[in-house]
Amino acid sequence: MLIDTHCHLFMKPLCGDIGGVLCRAAQKGVSAIIVPAVETSSWRKVAELSEYPAVYPALGLHPWCADEKLDTGLLGKLLLETGSVAVGEIGLDFKIEEPDRHTQITVFRLQLDLASELGLPVILHCRGAFDEMLSILSQKKYDGRISGVVHAFSRGAALAERFLKLGYFIAFGGAVTRSRAKRARSSAAAVPLHRIVLETDSPSIGMDGIDPEQMEPAHVARIAESLALLRGISSEEVTRETARNARELFNIVEGR
Ligand SMILES: [Zn+2]
Repeated sequence: MLIDTHCHLFMKPLCGDIGGVLCRAAQKGVSAIIVPAVETSSWRKVAELSEYPAVYPALGLHPWCADEKLDTGLLGKLLLETGSVAVGEIGLDFKIEEPDRHTQITVFRLQLDLASELGLPVILHCRGAFDEMLSILSQKKYDGRISGVVHAFSRGAALAERFLKLGYFIAFGGAVTRSRAKRARSSAAAVPLHRIVLETDSPSIGMDGIDPEQMEPAHVARIAESLALLRGISSEEVTRETARNARELFNIVEGR
């Protein structure tokens, strides 16, 4: 069974056809879909979606929304009430000007503290801020106390290695299906299979021949096939191992 570790099912157009999206995913063997929140107003939507047996919620404040007021008391309460499998998505995005870096770092650290306190893994978004993120994650306060995944990884293997050393998993998505995405594909071939999880990041990122707005969890099957080709192994092995990794990291038991 496949696990899509990153899908924003509450976003358009996915939210307009949830039954269809989940049905097509099930037909492709997708047994679990992790749905990370983005802005504060999406927390309630994610919580509602977790009523679907295949949906596993993650709540957090995305760096793009770091200037929203973060109520960590409320977030902590909702993480527990909803049975969230992770704090996410959270992180740093220095390719944007606003929210400023200071605000992003403050909000990121508050959520790392919460993850550490609750013993939950984190789903990390990182753009243009890898050194900063790695230096925060390697602080004594967090190193070895938090696990998690770097989502939509498309950078080189040397950078992946720095996250692996800290115990993080690497999530590969649509990029590995594109022949031009040399860097992402070389990382996907190099990272040990027992540290890889799969994701579609639908509807944010597309893949070979598929636009972002057409992406849905069913497409994780093609990502598994591409990864298998890159590594010269069967897609069954990729499916089995990456699902096992996701179950271990997020403490997922399908068919709750
Ligand atoms: Zn996302």
